[in-house]
Amino acid sequence: MRIAAGASSDIGLVREANEDSLLAEPPVFAVADGMGGHRGGEVASALALETLRQVRGPLADQVREANRVVFERSLSDRALSGMGTTLTAAVAEETRVRLAHVGDSRAYLWRDGRLRRLTEDHTLVNQMVKEGKITEQEATVHPQRSILTRALGVDRDVRVDEDSVDVLDQDRILLCSDGLTAMVGDGQIASVLAQAADPQEAADLLARAANEAGGIDNITALVVDFRGGDEPPGDGDRSAESPRPAAEPRRPSLLERGARLGLALAAAVAIAVVALVGLRLYVDGQWFVGVSDGRVALFRGIPAEVAGFKLHHVVVETEVQASEIEQLALWRDRLRDGITAPSRDDAEEIVDQMRADLAKRAREAAQGPNG
Ligand code: MN
Repeated sequence: MRIAAGASSDIGLVREANEDSLLAEPPVFAVADGMGGHRGGEVASALALETLRQVRGPLADQVREANRVVFERSLSDRALSGMGTTLTAAVAEETRVRLAHVGDSRAYLWRDGRLRRLTEDHTLVNQMVKEGKITEQEATVHPQRSILTRALGVDRDVRVDEDSVDVLDQDRILLCSDGLTAMVGDGQIASVLAQAADPQEAADLLARAANEAGGIDNITALVVDFRGGDEPPGDGDRSAESPRPAAEPRRPSLLERGARLGLALAAAVAIAVVALVGLRLYVDGQWFVGVSDGRVALFRGIPAEVAGFKLHHVVVETEVQASEIEQLALWRDRLRDGITAPSRDDAEEIVDQMRADLAKRAREAAQGPNG
């Protein structure tokens, strides 16, 4: 089986640092999502993957070793106390992939356009779903959805989920942090994987989709493609191609981008506030004649709604029946839409004109049918 991989790790649009780390050093692939204070998360995820990379042996043993290393560092450095990380790792062997997993990062198998989740989230909400206390749908918006029930490096020992899957030609394995899956549903992930043939392009598009959905967390996506079973001619001893990213656990330093985004957000908020205040002043200065409770009424504001909010309120309901005005062709359509006026006096003049028109019509009716 030939392997090609692509990976993308992005700070997202809200966080001040990227605490995710990834390892793409065929045949070992892993994603880690660190947590715990300013530096803690970054150190925990990077240290876990660095350990995973150096130790060779059964995958679950490597993960337990990574747990021990992170835990001991958190004891020896007060600034890192309480740090921890998720870890979802895959090792490719000929036609199988071995998996080891702790936390709420995920592994997926994409085959024939369908996405299958290979890992279970070690989160409080997932436990509540399994116990039937909340639905899967409720879990996706639950305020405590990011609370982990298991993480690497927070205790001397950790329980590691292990699994393995057979892989076929054209299969894809996706490893990702919750910054992707919290923002992008499985359906959209599957369609991105279907549309991007190149694994690097797929990883980049997944990260972009999470940012387009809000990017509230760090996003990491690692896509591993499996091809054929035959070695390409003249390439006998290469069983894997390195992905474009460096093999070391890495982290884009995008602090500058975060600072610039902060300024842009502040400016956007300021503009929105000025616009709202301006709109409010403008709206309050406007009048129109419309219908309230079946009667002609004077309104303050403009005859419109924005996002369900009415931009007007009734000031006076007159004695004039709207149904009578609607018999007058001149007024009917305009009254329905609201007849705007620059001042209250102007609005009252409009109503006076309606009264005059009604009186005139009544006089004409008294004189008999039109001839
Ligand atoms: Mn995360």
